[in-house]
Amino acid sequence: MSEMSKEVKQTIIKISRKLYQRGLVVATDGNVSVRTSEGLHITGVGTVLGEISEESIATLNERGECVETKSTTPSSELEMHLEIYRQRDDVKAIIHAHPPYCTAFSLSKEAALDCRLTEIEATFGEIPIAPPAQPGTAAVARSIRTLIRTHDAIILSNHGALTVGKSLEEAFGNMERLEHYARICYLAKTLDRGK
Ligand SMILES: [Zn+2]
Repeated sequence: MSEMSKEVKQTIIKISRKLYQRGLVVATDGNVSVRTSEGLHITGVGTVLGEISEESIATLNERGECVETKSTTPSSELEMHLEIYRQRDDVKAIIHAHPPYCTAFSLSKEAALDCRLTEIEATFGEIPIAPPAQPGTAAVARSIRTLIRTHDAIILSNHGALTVGKSLEEAFGNMERLEHYARICYLAKTLDRGK
């Protein structure tokens, strides 16, 4: 394993644990990937992100083939990650999580994630909601295909959220910020209803 690979895996472990500690994923939810000049690192299928180790991270070459024989099977959302990397040269890291407030808005028939928070508008612009798609299938990649061209944060209908970045730290910051915004929006709407 190259020095770069080792370093990237350590970053994936650090960020995966933070996702779990912040309650952005539970159990085997969520997946994380990083693209480098050597290939793609992605968390394995069934990985508990809160307890992740190097062995739970799959390494793929440019053609999407596993290059470490002992490595785990890539996450079932691999297709979605590959779709994003195909379309966005600037994206080097992707996080998919199930943050509770984002996911609640993705399920609500009445409440929209549409509060006008200045900093969020400056960071993300509008936050789109991708159409429903069965998790772990190619339908998820299709559901975000158009939206990912112009957005760094997307809500997945009835499912969760997706953020990207130039680094894994940036993708994590985007996920944290997105969930914080969804929580503030929930509180604002609750206050309005109390009037
Ligand atoms: Zn999911």
